[in-house]
Amino acid sequence: MKYFTPKLEALAPYVPGEQPQFEVIKLNTNESPYPPAPTVEAAVANAAAVLARYPDPDCQNLRQTLAQRFDVMPTEIFVGNGSDEVLAFCFQGLMNAGVVYPDLTYGFYPVFSQMYDISSKEIPLGADFTLNLADYQEETGTVIFANPNAPTSLGIAAIEIANFVAANPERLVIVDEAYVEFGGESMVPYIKEFANLLVVGTFSKSWQLAGARLGYAVGQAALIAALNKLKFSFNPYSVNTMTAVAGIAALADENYHASCLEQIIGQRQKTAQDLKALGFTVLDSQTNFLFVTHPAVGGKVIYEKLKMQQIFVRWFNLPRIKDYLRITIGTPQQMQQCLAAITQIIKDEI
Ligand SMILES: *Cc1c(COP(=O)(O)O)cnc(C)c1O
Repeated sequence: MKYFTPKLEALAPYVPGEQPQFEVIKLNTNESPYPPAPTVEAAVANAAAVLARYPDPDCQNLRQTLAQRFDVMPTEIFVGNGSDEVLAFCFQGLMNAGVVYPDLTYGFYPVFSQMYDISSKEIPLGADFTLNLADYQEETGTVIFANPNAPTSLGIAAIEIANFVAANPERLVIVDEAYVEFGGESMVPYIKEFANLLVVGTFSKSWQLAGARLGYAVGQAALIAALNKLKFSFNPYSVNTMTAVAGIAALADENYHASCLEQIIGQRQKTAQDLKALGFTVLDSQTNFLFVTHPAVGGKVIYEKLKMQQIFVRWFNLPRIKDYLRITIGTPQQMQQCLAAITQIIKDEI
């Protein structure tokens, strides 16, 4: 259409994992298989009564609750509509000298680079998919990566990141900690020390709230103020009233959170062993998913055959990882069904 901008015409949007609107075994987008904390439902229902009013644009109660959890000040907490929105603001305003990120990481980084005209460079992960920060030392601009990383499931130590942040005081380092609670090491304790560190997190993976859309950033007050400036120039109300109370209620139930994490981590170890017994190579996961490959059967074949049985896992059509599958950890029963199906597929193919 002639009123479409060249930028719109050229956009290559992010491709989310499939969200089928019918019952499947859904192991493709790293959600929790468990429901939100029991108190979330009542909190959201109560919030419905005040939907005639705009939400608090400063999200004071939610930021206060998060600040307590992380032992920082509320001025060191930003909240947004999913960490995707938080990341979008980072790309809009915090990448003056461009951005570097791994070749295999969260698919939104290249999309946002294009969307906001940021010059970007991909740094290949090692042959074993490990992230080596020494590879970023000679580059310039903001550094962003997920730790633990997706889709590889691998993490690096906080001290390695801290050393890099300390050695690059003129560059911002953004650590996307979407999966940190499943076994990674958080950088949040380092934000007091480093003005050039921003930690981004989400309620989608370990807090059972993917549908609520809630993400956050932790960093020194100047960075948080910059993110708020962007948010208040776009949509001051991006965190709606029901989502804010859902987040507060989830944070209040630490026992439920811990018990979900424990079940998922336990199931992860079991599924990893079962897949290894079938001949799979399974990367050492610090997340709520496994990144796996079979020496004899291609990733696409397994993905498609599972899908025919209503079992959805994630397959990426990218040269380096086309024989890998990313499998979210579900309930014991879901994993049993998935494993039975994979066992049969392997048997049929070799
Ligand atoms: C899932 C995911 C996100 C997005 O989370 P939302 O808060 O649901 O937008 C961000 N980063 C990584 C690495 C993820 O895997």
